[in-house]
Order: sequence, then structure tokens, then C-alpha cells
Amino acid sequence: MLKFVTFLPQTSPLLANIKIVLVETSHPGNIGGVARAMKNMGLTNLALVAPKIFPSAEATSRASGADELLANARLCATLTEAIDDCSLVIGASARSRTISWPEIEPRACPALINILPADARVAIVFGRENSGLKNHELDLCQYLLRIPCNPKYSSLNLAAAVQVVSYELFLAYGDTSQNAIGDRGLDPLATAEQMEAFYTHLLETIADIGFLHPDKSNSIMRRLRRIFNRTHLDTKELDILRGILRYAQNHNK
Ligand code: SAH
Repeated sequence: MLKFVTFLPQTSPLLANIKIVLVETSHPGNIGGVARAMKNMGLTNLALVAPKIFPSAEATSRASGADELLANARLCATLTEAIDDCSLVIGASARSRTISWPEIEPRACPALINILPADARVAIVFGRENSGLKNHELDLCQYLLRIPCNPKYSSLNLAAAVQVVSYELFLAYGDTSQNAIGDRGLDPLATAEQMEAFYTHLLETIADIGFLHPDKSNSIMRRLRRIFNRTHLDTKELDILRGILRYAQNHNK
């Protein structure tokens, strides 16, 4: 019987080294929304550069249980101060700029982070709701991050932008293994030898049940192999399939 394993997000060491920096946010509700988005995705490190209103009841209410991120947020007077410990700084912008910073998409962030030493700190900087990041702030960033979207309506809400970027980071670095169902898929993958034994058994069975004559089975076997090659079966899954084949063979006798 399959049972669902409760999924408790844990912050992996890499996620702990990634800081979200918000520059001069006007609406406290957005700060709360960002905290919530971050906690959902296992990020904990928030820095606020000269927020208009903070702390605020609205931020706490929108954080919806992620208020410890607000309590631990680092308040900074300038962007320089917020990123002083970071060796990679990425600035998120809804607009392309006339001066061309190297542009990346959220999905490309892990590739940049992966070439850094494991303890390096990374900042991803988000701009003001009404005017984004200024060019002198982007000068402090090595990359400009753009979320691909409708070119005619490309400005996401601040918390939504943080959500999209954090999601990609979670896919790359979050502990998704606990999200598995049932026995958590810890059985070893089937070896090539075990797979070959399975294919022989499969061929035997499809002949036994009269589905196909073995002499005419080359192309269909190749296609069947293609299906199983895509799925990377583990040994338990293979046992189940072999059990079904045995049952079909016995039933056919
Ligand atoms: N009106 C502003 C956009 C503000 S949205 C402007 O024209 O620049 C607030 C912040 O969310 C932006 O500064 C940016 O950091 C982030 N953001 C919004 N949409 C984005 C997108 N499509 N790609 C990357 N970042 C985005």
C-alpha cells in the first residue's frame, strides 16, 4: 500500500548561501509576500535596502507564517552594504537595458552558482515596484536576470518575481528527495544485466501469450526497450514487472 511521506522542506547549505535583496520596496505587503515565497522554496536569507515602511503589520500578515524571515531580515542603508559578503551578484530586471549586462534567465542561475566554491555567498537583487533597479545599482551586479514572459506585459509583481526565481533555485538545490511517495525510491537502479534478463523474459512472454511471434519482434522489442530506457527502473520496480510477466505466462498455460 502506498502512503504519502510528509514533506518538510529543509534548507540545504546552498540555499542558505543565497540571499534575496529587495531595494527600496514601497509596499510592506510585498515584503511579506516575498518572505512567504522564499520560505516556500527553502530560502531564509533576506536583506532589505531602505524599505519605505518596515517593520509593518501588513508585511507580517502577508508573510503568513514566514515571519521569522522578516524578524531575521538584514536592514541595510545601501545596496553595497547588502551585498558586501557576496561573490556573485545577480540583478533582476523586467526590462532590457541599453547598456548590455550579460543577461540570464532564472533557470541558468544554478549553472553560475555551481562554478563557485560551496561556501560562496550569492545575492539576487530585486528593484522598486515603480521603477525597478537603477543603472548604478545594476553596475554592482555581474548579471542581469530576466524572467521570460509576455514582452508586452513583462513586469511581474515583486513577490511573484521572487517566487519564480526561488522556485528554480529550489529545483536545483532544495531537498526534493523527501517528496517521493511510498518507499521513497531508495532501491538501487536495475543493472544492464538485469534489464537484459527482463527483455528476454518480456520477449518470451509476448510469444507465450500469442501477442507476437519472436521472429517478428525485432522492431517492437526495440521500441519497448526505448520505453524502459526512458524510465530508469529500479530493482523493486523490475521485480514487479517480472512478477506480472510470470503471472501472464502461468495464466496462459
Ligand atoms: N516597473 C519596474 C518593474 C518593477 S517590478 C520596471 O520597469 O523596472 C519590481 C521588481 O521585480 C523589478 O525591479 C525586478 O527586480 C522584478 N521583476 C519584475 N518583473 C521581472 C521580470 N520579468 N524579470 C526579472 N525581474 C522582474
